[in-house]
Amino acid sequence: MKTKVFDVRDIYKHYIDKSTVLDDAETDEKFEETLKDIDQAAQVIIDGGLVVFPTETVYGLGANALNAEATAKIFAAKGRPADNPLIVHIARASNIGELTPVLTPEIIQLIDNFWPGPLTIVLPKKENVPDITTGGLKTVAIRMPDDPVALELINKAGCPVAAPSANISGRPSPTRRQHVVADMDGKVDAILIGRDCRVGIESTVLDLSGEIPTILRPGIITAENIEAVINKKVAIDPALNQRKGCSNSDEGEIDFIPKAPGMKYRHYAPKADMTVIEGNRDKVKSEIERLKGLNEKLGLKVGVILFEEKAFNEAAHEFFAKLREMDDEGVDLILAGALSEQDGVGFAVMNRMLKSAGYNIAKV
Ligand code: AMP
Ligand code: MG
Repeated sequence: MKTKVFDVRDIYKHYIDKSTVLDDAETDEKFEETLKDIDQAAQVIIDGGLVVFPTETVYGLGANALNAEATAKIFAAKGRPADNPLIVHIARASNIGELTPVLTPEIIQLIDNFWPGPLTIVLPKKENVPDITTGGLKTVAIRMPDDPVALELINKAGCPVAAPSANISGRPSPTRRQHVVADMDGKVDAILIGRDCRVGIESTVLDLSGEIPTILRPGIITAENIEAVINKKVAIDPALNQRKGCSNSDEGEIDFIPKAPGMKYRHYAPKADMTVIEGNRDKVKSEIERLKGLNEKLGLKVGVILFEEKAFNEAAHEFFAKLREMDDEGVDLILAGALSEQDGVGFAVMNRMLKSAGYNIAKV
């Protein structure tokens, strides 16, 4: 398939932060061209095709969420297991009613505080949402992304857009334009090139379909952030706290079945072997040095990931990009230092780091 690639970065100059309104005071020809490119991509979605687009979390691979044939193409392009449901993206919070019959004061509070932004909420689905979009579940995951390209695209397509991360299944999520082109060129109808993803890890997934609000996937919006808004305890899916392998890694089966089906698969894996070194920070540093020296003597190319202490947002922003850079450089072994604090955003980054390493952990 021939993929049309559109560089639409000009749009960011005209974007008022946290709003879908474009500042058209200074529009120019380039800007008009950019809007036309997004129109073309929206037409692809309307016609049942696939469009890769930027969001603030990671790049997404989108199709009309209400068109079963179109969302089936997402699973094919990614090689994604059919029981791993898609997140459905909307451009206006008020469109949530197209997807779910439920709207409580709690949901409205969450939307007011966190949308557009990296919070996905899981609610009972309406009949019109095809089973294939939700991996056969009776619930649907919904989010409004905070990126003007994404919002323009969804708005112009006039339908909710189902979009998982735009990587081949199992690979690190793409957060930079070169990474998304490398994975998706030839597999989709169009790619919209935007800016590097500000957040860098996927959205927090919050299940609101049961009695207790439960985090199914951690992200930069933490349980504490959510509790502060809804004044209620938020649970963490117990599957997130265990440290064994995923179903298609060789570490063995998991004990708790995660409620977010996607969380059970081997994820985010770089081509290189990867080990997470965990423990006291000084010991972690010296163990990384020791292992690096040892492996380099054996002729291996070693890459090190060691974030500044407490720089959790920076770690989120950089993590996937670093894995892909190391793959591009032909690194054989990645040694990653575990973050020193593993709650809040640190918990979200560690969730990705441990999965990328296939739960290969060395304690020091
Ligand atoms: P991705 O699209 O790659 O960002 O992954 C989406 C994540 O959201 C996966 O972990 C899914 O399993 C999860 N998810 C999507 N829809 C639902 C749902 N209806 N119930 C529970 N988890 C969901
Ligand atoms: Mg993904």
